[in-house]
Amino acid sequence: MNKYDTNNIFAKILRTEIPSDMLYEDEYAASFKDINPQAKIHALIIPKKEYQNISELLDGDKEFLSNFMKSVSKAIKKINVKNEDFQLIANNGENAGQEIFHMHFHLLID
Ligand code: 5GP
Repeated sequence: MNKYDTNNIFAKILRTEIPSDMLYEDEYAASFKDINPQAKIHALIIPKKEYQNISELLDGDKEFLSNFMKSVSKAIKKINVKNEDFQLIANNGENAGQEIFHMHFHLLID
C-alpha cells in the first residue's frame, strides 16, 4: 500500500477545508452525507486518524479501534432514528471499489 495522502477528500473534510453535511462528530469519528447517495440515507463514517482502509484500521492502534467502533455505534444510533435495518460497508482497496483512501464505512438505510 502507498503512504497515506493527506490531500484526500475526507482528510480535507476533517480539516473543514471543504464543506460537508455533518451528521455526527466526536473525538474519534466523523459522519457526513455521501455526495452521491445510493440509498434513502447514505452516510459515511470515518475515523479521525490517518488510515487508508479498514485493513490498516484493524491492524492499527487497538485502543483507537475500540474507541472508534464505539463512536461508529453512536453515529449509527444518531442517524438511524427509526432504528431500521441497515448496511455497513467498507470497500478495501481499488479492486473492491475503494476510491477515497481514508478509511470509511458506508452506512446505507433504505
Ligand atoms: P468508496 O468508493 O471509496 O468506498 O466511497 C467513496 C464515497 O465518497 C463515494 O460513495 C462518493 O460518492 C463519496 N464522495 C466522493 N467525493 C465526496 C465529497 O466531496 N463529499 C462527500 N460527502 N462524499 C464524497
